[in-house]
Amino acid sequence: MTLRRTKIVATLGPATASLEKIEELILAGMDVARLNFSHGSADSHREKAQILRTLAKKHNKSIAIMGDLQGPKIRISRFRDREVTLFVGQEFTLSNQHPTELGDEHIVGIDYPSLVADCHPGDELLLDDGRIVLQVTDVDAASVHTQVLVGGTLSNNKGINRRGGGISAESLTDKDRADILICAELQLDYIAVSFPRYGSDITAARELVLAAGSNAWIIAKIERAEAVADDTALDDIIKVSDGVMVARGDLGVEIGDARLAGIQKRIIHHARTHNKLVITATQMMESMISSPIPTRAEVSDVANAVLDYTDAVMLSGESASGNYPVEAVSAMARICLGAELEPISTTSKHRLGETFTRCDETIALSTMYAANHFPGIKAIISLSESGLTPLIMSRIRSGVPIYCFTRHITTQRRAALFRGVYPLLFDATKHDINAIGQAAISVLQQDALLSAGDWVILTQGGLHADSGGTNTMTILQVN
Ligand code: PGA
Ligand code: MN
Repeated sequence: MTLRRTKIVATLGPATASLEKIEELILAGMDVARLNFSHGSADSHREKAQILRTLAKKHNKSIAIMGDLQGPKIRISRFRDREVTLFVGQEFTLSNQHPTELGDEHIVGIDYPSLVADCHPGDELLLDDGRIVLQVTDVDAASVHTQVLVGGTLSNNKGINRRGGGISAESLTDKDRADILICAELQLDYIAVSFPRYGSDITAARELVLAAGSNAWIIAKIERAEAVADDTALDDIIKVSDGVMVARGDLGVEIGDARLAGIQKRIIHHARTHNKLVITATQMMESMISSPIPTRAEVSDVANAVLDYTDAVMLSGESASGNYPVEAVSAMARICLGAELEPISTTSKHRLGETFTRCDETIALSTMYAANHFPGIKAIISLSESGLTPLIMSRIRSGVPIYCFTRHITTQRRAALFRGVYPLLFDATKHDINAIGQAAISVLQQDALLSAGDWVILTQGGLHADSGGTNTMTILQVN
Protein backbone atom coordinates (compact mmCIF):
# COMPACT_ATOMS: atom_id res chain seq x y z
CA MET A 1 0.00 0.00 0.00
CA THR A 2 1.40 3.38 -0.97
CA LEU A 3 0.67 6.06 1.58
CA ARG A 4 -0.28 9.48 0.22
CA ARG A 5 2.31 12.04 1.32
CA THR A 6 0.64 15.34 0.37
CA LYS A 7 -2.10 16.27 2.81
CA ILE A 8 -5.60 17.54 2.09
CA VAL A 9 -7.22 20.51 3.83
CA ALA A 10 -10.99 20.71 3.32
CA THR A 11 -13.11 23.68 4.37
CA LEU A 12 -16.32 22.68 6.15
CA GLY A 13 -19.48 24.62 5.36
CA PRO A 14 -23.18 24.19 4.72
CA ALA A 15 -22.55 21.29 2.30
CA THR A 16 -20.47 19.46 4.88
CA ALA A 17 -21.95 20.29 8.27
CA SER A 18 -23.54 16.94 9.14
CA LEU A 19 -21.80 14.08 10.90
CA GLU A 20 -22.47 11.83 7.91
CA LYS A 21 -20.84 14.19 5.40
CA ILE A 22 -17.86 14.91 7.62
CA GLU A 23 -17.36 11.17 8.05
CA GLU A 24 -17.37 10.74 4.27
CA LEU A 25 -14.75 13.48 3.92
CA ILE A 26 -12.54 11.74 6.48
CA LEU A 27 -12.86 8.39 4.72
CA ALA A 28 -12.11 10.07 1.37
CA GLY A 29 -8.82 11.44 2.76
CA MET A 30 -9.32 14.79 4.52
CA ASP A 31 -6.34 15.33 6.87
CA VAL A 32 -7.14 18.84 8.09
CA ALA A 33 -10.58 20.44 8.46
CA ARG A 34 -10.73 24.19 8.00
CA LEU A 35 -13.31 26.19 9.94
CA ASN A 36 -13.79 29.47 8.13
CA PHE A 37 -14.52 32.24 10.63
CA SER A 38 -15.68 34.50 7.78
CA HIS A 39 -18.89 32.49 7.85
CA GLY A 40 -20.94 30.70 10.50
CA SER A 41 -21.65 31.27 14.17
CA ALA A 42 -19.45 30.29 17.10
CA ASP A 43 -21.91 27.50 17.82
CA SER A 44 -21.68 26.12 14.31
CA HIS A 45 -17.86 25.95 14.68
CA ARG A 46 -18.22 24.32 18.11
CA GLU A 47 -20.51 21.68 16.69
CA LYS A 48 -18.19 20.87 13.75
CA ALA A 49 -15.12 20.68 16.00
CA GLN A 50 -16.92 18.26 18.29
CA ILE A 51 -18.05 16.06 15.39
CA LEU A 52 -14.50 16.03 14.02
CA ARG A 53 -12.96 14.97 17.32
CA THR A 54 -15.54 12.22 17.78
CA LEU A 55 -15.04 10.85 14.27
CA ALA A 56 -11.24 11.04 14.43
CA LYS A 57 -11.41 8.90 17.54
CA LYS A 58 -13.90 6.47 16.02
CA HIS A 59 -11.73 5.90 12.93
CA ASN A 60 -8.43 6.16 14.82
CA LYS A 61 -7.30 8.93 12.44
CA SER A 62 -5.16 11.98 13.05
CA ILE A 63 -7.20 14.98 11.95
CA ALA A 64 -6.08 18.55 12.60
CA ILE A 65 -8.50 21.47 12.77
CA MET A 66 -7.55 24.89 11.44
CA GLY A 67 -9.48 28.00 12.41
CA ASP A 68 -9.18 30.59 9.65
CA LEU A 69 -9.71 34.14 10.95
CA GLN A 70 -11.63 36.52 8.72
CA GLY A 71 -9.13 39.37 8.98
CA PRO A 72 -9.74 42.83 7.56
CA LYS A 73 -11.52 41.67 4.45
CA ILE A 74 -13.25 44.78 3.20
CA ARG A 75 -16.75 44.08 1.98
CA ILE A 76 -19.63 45.90 0.42
CA SER A 77 -22.83 45.72 2.43
CA ARG A 78 -26.13 44.47 1.01
CA PHE A 79 -28.53 45.21 -1.84
CA ARG A 80 -32.24 45.78 -1.50
CA ASP A 81 -32.79 42.90 -3.94
CA ARG A 82 -29.80 40.77 -2.92
CA GLU A 83 -27.91 41.45 -6.16
CA VAL A 84 -27.53 43.94 -9.00
CA THR A 85 -26.12 43.84 -12.51
CA LEU A 86 -23.41 46.35 -13.36
CA PHE A 87 -22.70 47.37 -16.95
CA VAL A 88 -19.39 48.47 -18.43
CA GLY A 89 -19.03 52.25 -18.43
CA GLN A 90 -21.74 53.03 -15.90
CA GLU A 91 -21.08 54.92 -12.66
CA PHE A 92 -21.17 53.14 -9.32
CA THR A 93 -20.57 54.52 -5.83
CA LEU A 94 -19.29 52.87 -2.64
CA SER A 95 -20.41 54.91 0.35
CA ASN A 96 -19.79 54.93 4.10
CA GLN A 97 -23.11 56.63 4.63
CA HIS A 98 -25.45 54.57 2.51
CA PRO A 99 -27.86 52.36 4.55
CA THR A 100 -26.41 48.86 4.75
CA GLU A 101 -29.49 47.02 3.48
CA LEU A 102 -30.42 49.42 0.68
CA GLY A 103 -27.82 49.07 -2.07
CA ASP A 104 -28.95 49.35 -5.69
CA GLU A 105 -27.37 49.52 -9.15
CA HIS A 106 -26.01 53.03 -8.44
CA ILE A 107 -24.73 52.88 -4.88
CA VAL A 108 -23.93 50.42 -2.10
CA GLY A 109 -22.66 50.77 1.50
CA ILE A 110 -19.17 49.67 2.63
CA ASP A 111 -18.15 48.42 6.05
CA TYR A 112 -14.69 50.01 6.04
CA PRO A 113 -14.70 53.78 6.59
CA SER A 114 -11.06 54.41 5.70
CA LEU A 115 -11.48 53.12 2.16
CA VAL A 116 -11.99 56.74 1.14
CA ALA A 117 -8.58 57.65 2.55
CA ASP A 118 -6.86 54.70 0.86
CA CYS A 119 -8.31 55.29 -2.63
CA HIS A 120 -7.28 57.77 -5.29
CA PRO A 121 -8.63 58.55 -8.75
CA GLY A 122 -7.20 56.05 -11.23
CA ASP A 123 -7.04 53.15 -8.72
CA GLU A 124 -8.72 49.93 -9.70
CA LEU A 125 -10.94 48.17 -7.18
CA LEU A 126 -11.62 44.48 -7.67
CA LEU A 127 -14.81 43.04 -6.23
CA ASP A 128 -15.77 39.39 -5.78
CA ASP A 129 -12.22 38.05 -6.37
CA GLY A 130 -11.82 40.22 -9.44
CA ARG A 131 -15.03 39.30 -11.24
CA ILE A 132 -16.06 42.97 -11.15
CA VAL A 133 -13.54 45.78 -11.74
CA LEU A 134 -14.22 49.43 -10.87
CA GLN A 135 -12.00 52.39 -11.65
CA VAL A 136 -11.98 55.19 -9.09
CA THR A 137 -12.97 58.51 -10.68
CA ASP A 138 -13.45 60.67 -7.61
CA VAL A 139 -13.28 60.44 -3.82
CA ASP A 140 -15.11 62.64 -1.29
CA ALA A 141 -15.42 62.53 2.49
CA ALA A 142 -17.92 59.67 2.53
CA SER A 143 -17.79 57.97 -0.84
CA VAL A 144 -15.65 56.49 -3.56
CA HIS A 145 -17.07 57.18 -7.01
CA THR A 146 -16.18 54.77 -9.77
CA GLN A 147 -16.77 53.74 -13.34
CA VAL A 148 -17.35 50.07 -14.15
CA LEU A 149 -14.50 48.53 -16.20
CA VAL A 150 -15.67 44.92 -15.95
CA GLY A 151 -19.36 44.40 -15.26
CA GLY A 152 -21.54 41.51 -14.19
CA THR A 153 -23.68 40.39 -11.29
CA LEU A 154 -22.67 41.72 -7.89
CA SER A 155 -24.33 40.25 -4.80
CA ASN A 156 -24.39 40.99 -1.06
CA ASN A 157 -21.22 41.22 1.09
CA LYS A 158 -18.69 40.64 -1.68
CA GLY A 159 -15.05 41.44 -0.89
CA ILE A 160 -13.11 44.45 -2.20
CA ASN A 161 -9.39 44.53 -3.02
CA ARG A 162 -7.27 47.23 -4.61
CA ARG A 163 -5.09 46.20 -7.51
CA GLY A 164 -1.48 46.46 -6.33
CA GLY A 165 -2.48 46.23 -2.65
CA GLY A 166 -1.88 49.05 -0.21
CA ILE A 167 -5.15 49.19 1.71
CA SER A 168 -4.12 50.11 5.21
CA ALA A 169 -6.45 47.94 7.34
CA GLU A 170 -4.92 46.44 10.49
CA SER A 171 -4.36 42.72 10.21
CA LEU A 172 -6.31 41.72 13.35
CA THR A 173 -9.84 43.00 13.79
CA ASP A 174 -12.00 42.95 16.92
CA LYS A 175 -13.85 40.00 15.45
CA ASP A 176 -10.53 38.15 14.99
CA ARG A 177 -9.66 38.80 18.64
CA ALA A 178 -12.96 37.32 19.73
CA ASP A 179 -12.58 34.38 17.35
CA ILE A 180 -9.10 33.60 18.73
CA LEU A 181 -10.80 32.97 22.07
CA ILE A 182 -13.16 30.50 20.39
CA CYS A 183 -10.22 28.77 18.64
CA ALA A 184 -8.56 28.44 22.05
CA GLU A 185 -11.72 27.11 23.68
CA LEU A 186 -12.06 24.48 20.93
CA GLN A 187 -8.34 23.61 21.22
CA LEU A 188 -7.86 24.06 17.50
CA ASP A 189 -4.51 22.87 16.19
CA TYR A 190 -3.86 25.68 13.73
CA ILE A 191 -4.98 29.29 13.47
CA ALA A 192 -4.68 31.00 10.08
CA VAL A 193 -4.17 34.76 10.11
CA SER A 194 -5.61 36.61 7.12
CA PHE A 195 -3.95 39.53 5.30
CA PRO A 196 -0.75 39.94 7.38
CA ARG A 197 1.49 42.63 5.93
CA TYR A 198 4.60 42.10 8.07
CA GLY A 199 6.05 39.59 10.51
CA SER A 200 4.92 41.87 13.34
CA ASP A 201 1.27 41.10 12.45
CA ILE A 202 1.97 37.42 13.11
CA THR A 203 3.87 38.13 16.31
CA ALA A 204 0.91 40.16 17.56
CA ALA A 205 -1.46 37.31 16.69
CA ARG A 206 0.77 34.81 18.46
CA GLU A 207 0.71 36.89 21.65
CA LEU A 208 -3.08 36.86 21.61
CA VAL A 209 -3.19 33.13 20.90
CA LEU A 210 -0.81 32.35 23.78
CA ALA A 211 -2.65 34.71 26.10
CA ALA A 212 -5.87 32.85 25.27
CA GLY A 213 -4.21 29.65 26.51
CA SER A 214 -3.86 28.07 23.06
CA ASN A 215 -0.77 26.34 21.71
CA ALA A 216 -2.10 26.37 18.14
CA TRP A 217 0.46 26.76 15.40
CA ILE A 218 0.06 29.88 13.33
CA ILE A 219 -0.37 29.89 9.57
CA ALA A 220 0.21 33.22 7.82
CA LYS A 221 -1.98 33.63 4.75
CA ILE A 222 0.12 35.22 2.03
CA GLU A 223 -2.49 37.31 0.26
CA ARG A 224 -1.31 40.91 0.18
CA ALA A 225 0.93 42.52 -2.38
CA GLU A 226 3.11 43.89 0.45
CA ALA A 227 3.83 40.37 1.72
CA VAL A 228 5.43 39.35 -1.57
CA ALA A 229 6.94 42.72 -2.49
CA ASP A 230 10.40 41.13 -2.29
CA ASP A 231 12.11 38.14 -0.67
CA THR A 232 12.91 40.10 2.49
CA ALA A 233 9.24 40.97 3.04
CA LEU A 234 8.21 37.37 2.44
CA ASP A 235 10.86 35.91 4.75
CA ASP A 236 9.97 38.45 7.44
CA ILE A 237 6.52 36.83 7.67
CA ILE A 238 7.67 33.23 7.13
CA LYS A 239 10.27 33.33 9.90
CA VAL A 240 7.81 34.16 12.68
CA SER A 241 5.05 31.81 11.45
CA ASP A 242 4.76 28.04 11.81
CA GLY A 243 3.56 27.81 8.24
CA VAL A 244 2.11 29.83 5.40
CA MET A 245 -0.80 29.54 3.01
CA VAL A 246 -0.49 30.52 -0.63
CA ALA A 247 -3.87 32.27 -0.52
CA ARG A 248 -4.31 32.58 -4.25
CA GLY A 249 -7.79 34.09 -4.17
CA ASP A 250 -6.88 37.43 -2.65
CA LEU A 251 -3.22 37.31 -3.67
CA GLY A 252 -4.18 36.87 -7.32
CA VAL A 253 -6.43 39.91 -7.10
CA GLU A 254 -3.72 42.06 -5.50
CA ILE A 255 -0.75 41.11 -7.68
CA GLY A 256 -2.52 39.95 -10.85
CA ASP A 257 -3.20 36.33 -11.75
CA ALA A 258 -0.31 36.19 -14.20
CA ARG A 259 2.22 36.42 -11.35
CA LEU A 260 0.61 33.72 -9.21
CA ALA A 261 2.23 30.52 -10.43
CA GLY A 262 5.77 31.88 -10.12
CA ILE A 263 5.13 33.41 -6.70
CA GLN A 264 3.50 30.17 -5.51
CA LYS A 265 6.72 28.29 -6.28
CA ARG A 266 8.78 30.95 -4.53
CA ILE A 267 6.59 30.91 -1.39
CA ILE A 268 6.73 27.11 -1.18
CA HIS A 269 10.49 27.08 -1.59
CA HIS A 270 11.08 29.81 1.00
CA ALA A 271 8.78 28.19 3.54
CA ARG A 272 10.53 24.84 3.24
CA THR A 273 13.98 26.36 3.49
CA HIS A 274 12.94 27.98 6.78
CA ASN A 275 11.59 24.65 8.12
CA LYS A 276 7.99 25.89 7.85
CA LEU A 277 4.76 24.36 6.56
CA VAL A 278 3.03 25.46 3.40
CA ILE A 279 -0.55 25.02 2.15
CA THR A 280 -1.59 25.78 -1.44
CA ALA A 281 -5.12 27.13 -1.55
CA THR A 282 -8.07 28.39 -3.57
CA GLN A 283 -9.76 27.38 -6.79
CA MET A 284 -7.78 24.16 -7.04
CA MET A 285 -10.92 22.21 -8.00
CA GLU A 286 -13.28 25.13 -8.63
CA SER A 287 -15.31 23.43 -11.37
CA MET A 288 -16.12 20.61 -8.93
CA ILE A 289 -18.48 22.97 -7.15
CA SER A 290 -20.93 21.95 -9.86
CA SER A 291 -19.30 19.01 -11.64
CA PRO A 292 -18.32 15.56 -10.33
CA ILE A 293 -14.99 15.50 -12.19
CA PRO A 294 -12.20 18.09 -12.34
CA THR A 295 -10.91 19.71 -15.52
CA ARG A 296 -7.49 18.78 -16.87
CA ALA A 297 -6.29 22.25 -15.85
CA GLU A 298 -7.37 21.62 -12.24
CA VAL A 299 -5.78 18.18 -12.19
CA SER A 300 -2.63 19.79 -13.47
CA ASP A 301 -2.80 22.59 -10.89
CA VAL A 302 -3.03 20.14 -7.97
CA ALA A 303 -0.29 17.93 -9.42
CA ASN A 304 1.98 20.93 -9.94
CA ALA A 305 1.57 22.04 -6.33
CA VAL A 306 2.48 18.49 -5.30
CA LEU A 307 5.56 18.60 -7.55
CA ASP A 308 6.46 22.01 -6.04
CA TYR A 309 6.42 20.10 -2.72
CA THR A 310 3.60 21.81 -0.89
CA ASP A 311 2.62 20.14 2.40
CA ALA A 312 -1.05 20.31 1.57
CA VAL A 313 -3.58 21.26 -1.07
CA MET A 314 -6.78 22.95 0.06
CA LEU A 315 -10.44 22.98 -0.90
CA SER A 316 -12.62 26.01 -0.14
CA GLY A 317 -16.01 26.40 -1.84
CA GLU A 318 -15.63 22.94 -3.38
CA SER A 319 -16.03 21.25 0.02
CA ALA A 320 -17.85 24.00 1.94
CA SER A 321 -20.75 24.67 -0.36
CA GLY A 322 -20.28 22.66 -3.56
CA ASN A 323 -22.37 19.80 -4.90
CA TYR A 324 -19.51 17.26 -4.84
CA PRO A 325 -17.44 17.78 -1.67
CA VAL A 326 -16.54 14.11 -1.17
CA GLU A 327 -15.70 13.61 -4.83
CA ALA A 328 -13.42 16.67 -4.64
CA VAL A 329 -11.45 15.18 -1.73
CA SER A 330 -11.21 11.79 -3.48
CA ALA A 331 -10.05 13.42 -6.71
CA MET A 332 -7.37 15.39 -4.85
CA ALA A 333 -6.17 12.25 -3.07
CA ARG A 334 -5.90 10.40 -6.37
CA ILE A 335 -4.05 13.25 -8.11
CA CYS A 336 -1.60 13.64 -5.20
CA LEU A 337 -0.76 9.94 -5.29
CA GLY A 338 -0.22 10.10 -9.04
CA ALA A 339 2.09 13.11 -8.89
CA GLU A 340 4.05 11.58 -6.02
CA LEU A 341 5.08 8.71 -8.33
CA GLU A 342 7.21 11.12 -10.33
CA PRO A 343 10.91 10.72 -9.37
CA ILE A 344 11.26 14.48 -8.71
CA SER A 345 8.92 13.93 -5.71
CA THR A 346 11.41 11.65 -3.97
CA THR A 347 14.87 13.01 -4.79
CA SER A 348 16.32 15.98 -2.97
CA LYS A 349 19.00 18.60 -3.27
CA HIS A 350 17.49 20.45 -0.31
CA ARG A 351 20.04 22.71 1.41
CA LEU A 352 23.05 20.85 0.01
CA GLY A 353 26.14 22.97 0.59
CA GLU A 354 24.47 24.91 3.44
CA THR A 355 25.27 24.93 7.14
CA PHE A 356 22.77 23.93 9.80
CA THR A 357 22.18 25.87 12.99
CA ARG A 358 20.85 23.35 15.50
CA CYS A 359 21.38 19.82 16.79
CA ASP A 360 17.82 18.58 16.12
CA GLU A 361 17.94 20.07 12.64
CA THR A 362 21.24 18.33 11.95
CA ILE A 363 19.87 14.96 13.10
CA ALA A 364 16.66 15.44 11.11
CA LEU A 365 18.41 16.31 7.86
CA SER A 366 21.10 13.62 8.31
CA THR A 367 18.32 11.09 8.81
CA MET A 368 16.76 12.04 5.51
CA TYR A 369 20.09 11.89 3.72
CA ALA A 370 20.58 8.36 5.07
CA ALA A 371 17.00 7.33 4.24
CA ASN A 372 17.24 8.59 0.67
CA HIS A 373 20.58 6.87 0.04
CA PHE A 374 20.12 3.47 1.73
CA PRO A 375 17.36 1.66 -0.15
CA GLY A 376 16.86 -0.85 2.68
CA ILE A 377 15.29 1.88 4.84
CA LYS A 378 11.52 1.47 4.81
CA ALA A 379 10.53 3.82 7.63
CA ILE A 380 11.70 6.64 9.83
CA ILE A 381 10.43 6.62 13.39
CA SER A 382 10.80 9.98 15.09
CA LEU A 383 9.98 10.07 18.80
CA SER A 384 8.80 13.62 19.15
CA GLU A 385 7.35 15.98 21.76
CA SER A 386 6.31 18.97 19.64
CA GLY A 387 6.56 17.51 16.13
CA LEU A 388 9.46 19.78 15.24
CA THR A 389 11.91 17.02 14.27
CA PRO A 390 9.50 15.27 11.88
CA LEU A 391 8.56 18.69 10.51
CA ILE A 392 12.20 19.44 9.65
CA MET A 393 12.63 15.93 8.19
CA SER A 394 9.62 16.38 5.98
CA ARG A 395 11.13 19.50 4.37
CA ILE A 396 13.21 17.04 2.33
CA ARG A 397 11.83 15.22 -0.67
CA SER A 398 11.71 11.50 0.04
CA GLY A 399 9.65 8.38 -0.58
CA VAL A 400 10.31 7.01 2.92
CA PRO A 401 7.42 7.43 5.39
CA ILE A 402 8.18 9.47 8.52
CA TYR A 403 6.25 8.17 11.52
CA CYS A 404 5.84 10.77 14.25
CA PHE A 405 5.57 8.78 17.49
CA THR A 406 4.33 11.09 20.19
CA ARG A 407 2.64 10.86 23.57
CA HIS A 408 0.81 14.16 23.06
CA ILE A 409 -2.51 14.15 21.25
CA THR A 410 -1.93 17.79 20.27
CA THR A 411 1.28 16.82 18.48
CA GLN A 412 -0.46 13.84 16.89
CA ARG A 413 -3.14 16.09 15.42
CA ARG A 414 -0.74 18.85 14.39
CA ALA A 415 1.51 16.49 12.46
CA ALA A 416 -1.43 15.44 10.27
CA LEU A 417 -0.63 18.48 8.11
CA PHE A 418 3.06 17.62 7.51
CA ARG A 419 3.87 16.14 4.13
CA GLY A 420 4.96 12.51 4.33
CA VAL A 421 4.47 12.37 8.11
CA TYR A 422 2.12 9.86 9.75
CA PRO A 423 1.43 10.54 13.43
CA LEU A 424 0.82 7.83 16.03
CA LEU A 425 0.14 8.05 19.75
CA PHE A 426 2.97 6.28 21.57
CA ASP A 427 4.26 6.93 25.06
CA ALA A 428 7.99 6.24 25.01
CA THR A 429 8.24 6.95 28.73
CA LYS A 430 6.29 3.70 29.36
CA HIS A 431 9.11 1.61 27.87
CA ASP A 432 12.59 0.69 29.04
CA ILE A 433 15.04 2.96 27.25
CA ASN A 434 16.70 0.02 25.49
CA ALA A 435 13.40 -1.47 24.33
CA ILE A 436 11.81 1.65 22.83
CA GLY A 437 13.03 1.00 19.28
CA GLN A 438 11.72 -2.55 19.25
CA ALA A 439 8.39 -1.50 20.77
CA ALA A 440 7.95 1.21 18.13
CA ILE A 441 8.83 -1.19 15.34
CA SER A 442 6.27 -3.70 16.65
CA VAL A 443 3.55 -1.06 16.37
CA LEU A 444 4.29 -0.62 12.66
CA GLN A 445 4.63 -4.39 12.13
CA GLN A 446 1.18 -4.93 13.58
CA ASP A 447 -0.21 -2.62 10.91
CA ALA A 448 1.84 -4.45 8.24
CA LEU A 449 3.83 -1.26 7.58
CA LEU A 450 7.14 -3.10 8.13
CA SER A 451 8.32 -6.64 7.61
CA ALA A 452 11.32 -8.75 8.62
CA GLY A 453 14.58 -7.60 7.07
CA ASP A 454 13.48 -3.96 6.60
CA TRP A 455 15.72 -1.25 7.98
CA VAL A 456 14.38 1.60 10.12
CA ILE A 457 15.89 4.87 11.33
CA LEU A 458 14.90 5.86 14.85
CA THR A 459 15.49 9.38 16.19
CA GLN A 460 14.98 10.50 19.76
CA GLY A 461 16.16 12.87 22.45
CA GLY A 462 16.91 12.05 26.05
CA LEU A 463 13.79 10.80 27.84
CA HIS A 464 11.64 13.71 28.97
CA ALA A 465 13.67 15.92 26.66
CA ASP A 466 12.04 19.19 25.85
CA SER A 467 10.97 20.06 22.37
CA GLY A 468 14.06 20.53 20.21
CA GLY A 469 16.01 17.90 22.18
CA THR A 470 16.43 15.29 19.45
CA ASN A 471 20.09 14.26 19.48
CA THR A 472 20.21 10.58 18.50
CA MET A 473 19.79 8.63 15.29
CA THR A 474 19.93 4.84 15.26
CA ILE A 475 19.60 2.41 12.38
CA LEU A 476 17.77 -0.80 13.29
CA GLN A 477 16.82 -3.90 11.38
CA VAL A 478 13.42 -5.51 11.75
CA ASN A 479 13.70 -9.17 12.73
P1 PGA B 1 -10.05 33.16 1.92
O1 PGA B 1 -8.47 33.00 1.83
O2 PGA B 1 -10.64 31.94 1.32
O3 PGA B 1 -10.30 33.30 3.36
O4 PGA B 1 -10.28 34.40 1.14
C1 PGA B 1 -7.84 32.25 0.83
C2 PGA B 1 -7.50 33.08 -0.38
O5 PGA B 1 -7.58 34.31 -0.38
O6 PGA B 1 -7.07 32.44 -1.37
MN1 MN C 1 -8.25 35.40 1.31
